[in-house]
Amino acid sequence: MPELRIDPIIGRRVYIAEDRAGRPSDYGAAVSGGSSASETPPTAPAVRGNCPFCAGNEIHTPVAELTVSDASGQWQCRVVPNKYPAVRIDRPIEGAFGAHEVIIESPEHLLDVTRLGPERLAAIVRVYRDRLRHWAAQPGIRHGLVFKNSGCDAGASLEHIHSQVTAVPFVLPVVERELAAAERFYGSQGTCIFCDLLQRELAAGQRVVANHDAYAVVTPHAPRQPYEMWLLSKTHAARFDQLADDAIEPLAAMLLDALERLQAVAPGCPYNLLLHTAPFDDEHAASYHWHWEIVPRLAHEAGLEWGGGVHICPLSPENAARRLRRNDE
Ligand SMILES: [Zn+2]
Ligand SMILES: [Zn+2]
Ligand SMILES: [Zn+2]
Repeated sequence: MPELRIDPIIGRRVYIAEDRAGRPSDYGAAVSGGSSASETPPTAPAVRGNCPFCAGNEIHTPVAELTVSDASGQWQCRVVPNKYPAVRIDRPIEGAFGAHEVIIESPEHLLDVTRLGPERLAAIVRVYRDRLRHWAAQPGIRHGLVFKNSGCDAGASLEHIHSQVTAVPFVLPVVERELAAAERFYGSQGTCIFCDLLQRELAAGQRVVANHDAYAVVTPHAPRQPYEMWLLSKTHAARFDQLADDAIEPLAAMLLDALERLQAVAPGCPYNLLLHTAPFDDEHAASYHWHWEIVPRLAHEAGLEWGGGVHICPLSPENAARRLRRNDE
């Protein structure tokens, strides 16, 4: 029987309907146990001639704003303005003003960010923080989002691993809802709703996917998608652009752990990786808590989702967490 769940932060409504997963054409094999599809043939070339993100093809992207290189001088990460931006920094503030950048995450043609390993991923996480820090200091910019569309079904137009940063002169509406809920909770309970949620989840254990020293990953009570995960820091902080240097490596290790677990249960699964962080002011310092949301794109979002704002998830977050933990048990 489907069960209605209500998200404890923003009140999102989700039907958990596990019996739907058995229907033959609905949600594919990944939900019911994993497929063997691998996107990267073992003989894939290191770079591809027609890929604008591969080393050697830099001429096909705008000039880099920032480049991170290894000891030999080979770039490992390039930040370039989006060639087809939704917003532009040279527009008047009342127009489509803002920043839209692409973070190219490897010089070689990799399709899965877990292939980078912990050190290279840590360098990328540092770039995420530094780009937000850069935009936070620009006049007129109020808020930023780091996101990754991995796989065509998650909205990626190029397969080569990359993320995007956007910075805008308003508060992004999805985060605005979380900020309002967090303010209300703080007003009545005197504590952060995310710190409270994480403590409860770690105590209960059934939705815990991974628990490191400084970070934990849980499946949310009311997930939109099978294997949806939230990564939270155990110490309270509202703004990701203020992340300390020594917090970067353990965060990258946690992110890698979560994404490797997703690959293990649903190989090649498309997903969106979303960083929710407070606006670039200190108004929400006590009540809001930055976090990453990993949202796989396995279940199709159709009329009920788009027209009614209610999601149907064919896998319970408790069963999802059990499968994601599987190799630990
Ligand atoms: Zn490439
Ligand atoms: Zn908190
Ligand atoms: Zn969020």
